[in-house]
Amino acid sequence: MNEKKYLLQFEPKAVEVPLTSRVISEFGLEVNILRAEITESGGQMIVTLIGPPGALGRGLRYLEDNNVRISELRPLVRKDDELCTDCGMCVSICPAKAYSISAPEWKVVFAEDKCIACGLCRDVCPPGAIFLSVI
Ligand code: SF4
Ligand code: SF4
Repeated sequence: MNEKKYLLQFEPKAVEVPLTSRVISEFGLEVNILRAEITESGGQMIVTLIGPPGALGRGLRYLEDNNVRISELRPLVRKDDELCTDCGMCVSICPAKAYSISAPEWKVVFAEDKCIACGLCRDVCPPGAIFLSVI
């Protein structure tokens, strides 16, 4: 199963059709609506779509074919170096080895390109120096 977040932007034509319920019934996707602003003249939604990779791709194509613009939203992790005390908790818990300890300063360094955005480091960081947002 894949789970991804998307921004769906509906053109006016797209709001005349019950696209969300069709994505659920025709492609077997789970749709979790996180935010929605829809009027008769269009609108946008932030959703999590969950389903097998093939079904997810077909569901997204169906939406695009029906006047919905789709942008994938990726979580973004940021470490505030002012708040960080270099305790090393994130280094030991990160499954992607995105943190390392630099020598000889013994500073904890974050490598964003390795991060898989699981959020574990944010949950264990004692001073709350790690932030997870979505772009
Ligand atoms: S857990 Fe938090 S305070 Fe500790 S090293 Fe990591 S970012 Fe810094
Ligand atoms: S969010 Fe997960 S993968 Fe990314 S740095 Fe934190 S623990 Fe590692």
